[in-house]
Amino acid sequence: MTASKLPRKHLFNLPEGVIYLDGNSLGPLPKGVIERAGHVIAEEWGRELIKAWNTADWISLPQRVGSRIAPLIGAPAGSVATGDTLSIKVYQALAAALKMRPERRIILSDSGNFPTDLYMAGGLIDVIGKNYELRTPAPEDVFDAIDDTVAAVLLTQVDYRTGRMHDMNTVTRKAHEAGAVMIWDLAHSAGAVPIDLSGCGAEFAVGCTYKYLNGGPGAPAFIYARPDIIENVKPALAGWMGHDAPFAMELGYRPAMSTERLRVGTPPIVQLSILDQALDAWEGVDMADIRAASITLSERFIAEVGARCPGLALVSPRDPALRGSQVSFAFEHGYAAIQALIDRGVIGDFRAPNIMRFGFTPLYLDEDDVVRAAEIIGEVIDGQLWDDAKYRTVSRVT
Ligand SMILES: *Cc1c(COP(=O)(O)O)cnc(C)c1O
Repeated sequence: MTASKLPRKHLFNLPEGVIYLDGNSLGPLPKGVIERAGHVIAEEWGRELIKAWNTADWISLPQRVGSRIAPLIGAPAGSVATGDTLSIKVYQALAAALKMRPERRIILSDSGNFPTDLYMAGGLIDVIGKNYELRTPAPEDVFDAIDDTVAAVLLTQVDYRTGRMHDMNTVTRKAHEAGAVMIWDLAHSAGAVPIDLSGCGAEFAVGCTYKYLNGGPGAPAFIYARPDIIENVKPALAGWMGHDAPFAMELGYRPAMSTERLRVGTPPIVQLSILDQALDAWEGVDMADIRAASITLSERFIAEVGARCPGLALVSPRDPALRGSQVSFAFEHGYAAIQALIDRGVIGDFRAPNIMRFGFTPLYLDEDDVVRAAEIIGEVIDGQLWDDAKYRTVSRVT
């Protein structure tokens, strides 16, 4: 399809009067999801009861959904498993990577990574207890920090705060030249930018599905392992759903001979069904068209906001080739400003300490939305409409 066939707003239930610039954090409700979830709950669970594992084929749903995510991230069929949360998948990929380089002790990430990735690495180090070290140089220094002491490089491609992108190909090549295992976190990439996992050759990739893929709050995560290594990957969390024959009920663990070995326990069927339905919106979509449309939207946004609000400092890369599908501005009163915007129907979000973040999702946004949002941002900033006590109370979720 061509970019002119975007957006596909008619495939989403977007509330009237809202310009949603937060689909990078929680995608909106795709049409058909309410019916699908209702059907799974009322008909499949309600009437079929436990038979539904077979009659509604719940048992193969994790694989079916994985095989729909694979083409969106440039991965071959059968190489993507779904389930659990991204934090768990980071832990699993990292644990497997460290086993592949038993003589090395360094985990290399960067200080721009999402906190949970770093916390999971720290927690894993505590469990293993063998002088492992987590290094977190600044994102721009991480390339030069890759050397032959590094066991695993764990990076998030698109920085959640600024949208700055690592180049997956060059970083993976350097990691491999140094003999390290490469793990990419695609949380802000899947459904946002074209990804060629096969081409870049990384051993592992992980990501979540409630951001650009619109799978709903708490939707299951995904994990990719390069097909040629999977039979030697040691799952850190050896659950029965990763066993070669779960219903043989063997006393010993024998991992499946596919990416399925990276599954853990019983899959969340209702949530997976919702994700399966949400993925319909991606049918026939070329990620190159999404990328082109995303750049058009974000460039227009930067120009429009820049012209209206000289006091907002762009913290995303100015070159669209270096940024993902989001634009962030630093502003001292960013939290209050975002609350004032939400009050006026422009939904973005705030990331500590001072970042106003806006995501661009060409499936359901067009240039008119972006210009209108910029106008409202201009009114809020220029008129200091954020300077109101009701916008200063910080909620638990920002
Ligand atoms: C959103 C995000 C997460 C969230 O992990 P959950 O386990 O799904 O809560 C983790 N890592 C990155 C890089 C993210 O952007």
